[in-house]
Amino acid sequence: MNQLTAGEIVLMRKAGALTRDALNYAQTLIKPGVSTLELDNLIKKFIINSGGSPSFLGYEGFPGSICASVNEMVVHGIPSSKIILKEGDIISIDVGVVYKGYNGDAARTFPVGKISPEKAKLIEVTKQCFFEGIAQLSVGQRLGRVSHAIQVHAEKNGYSVVRELVGHGIGKKMHLPPNIPNYGKETDGPIVIENTCLAIEPMINMGRKEIFLLDDDWGVVTRDGKPSAHYENTVLVTKQGVEILTL
Ligand code: MG
Repeated sequence: MNQLTAGEIVLMRKAGALTRDALNYAQTLIKPGVSTLELDNLIKKFIINSGGSPSFLGYEGFPGSICASVNEMVVHGIPSSKIILKEGDIISIDVGVVYKGYNGDAARTFPVGKISPEKAKLIEVTKQCFFEGIAQLSVGQRLGRVSHAIQVHAEKNGYSVVRELVGHGIGKKMHLPPNIPNYGKETDGPIVIENTCLAIEPMINMGRKEIFLLDDDWGVVTRDGKPSAHYENTVLVTKQGVEILTL
C-alpha cells in the first residue's frame, strides 16, 4: 500500500474532483439515440478543457477515453459508433483522469430513459455495496473487511460478484497494489495504512458470476447475458476516516 504525502493528497483531491465532474457531465449526455463513441468524444473534450487528461486513452492500447459498457457488459466496453443507446438500457461509464501526474478513477451505471424495476434495483444495490464496503474501511484494519461486506450485501440481494476483476490502490499510477476483490473473508488482505488512496469498485451481476472476454480483447460480458452494474470511487483513508474523492 502506497503512503501519500500531504502535497500528493492535494493533487489526488484535484484529480478526484475532475473525475467526478466528468462523470456528472456524462450523466447529462445519456439518452436514447446517442452512440457510445459520441459519449467518448464529448467526455474526452470535457476532461481536457477542465485541465486534466483522460488516463484510459492509450492505456495498454485502449482506444477510448471512457469505458462504456451496456447491459450485460460488465466493464471495459470500447466506445463505438455502432453501439447506440436505447430506452431501457443501462450503461456503465468508467472514467480516469490524470492531473499533474496523479489519478482519479470512478464509475457509475446510469439508466437510459425509463428502465425496468429489476435493473433499477441492480444499480441501487451495486451503489449500496460500495457504501457497505467503505463503512468497513479504516486504518489498522484488514482490507478483507471491505471485500467481505460488499459480497455479503450483493448476495443478500440475490446477485453475484465478479471474481476476475478487482479494485486497486491508486496514486501516481492508476493501478497500484493492493488488489481489492469484491468478495472474500474479513481476515484476508493487508492491514490498511493511513494516507493511502484506493479505488473501490463493486461489479455486481444480476445473474451468475461467470464472465467472458469479447474478441476485441477488452469488453467483459456476463456469460448468462444478464445485466451487470458497476459503482466505483477513489477514496482517501486517513486517521480521521474515509474521504470519497470522486463524489
Ligand atoms: Mg478502477
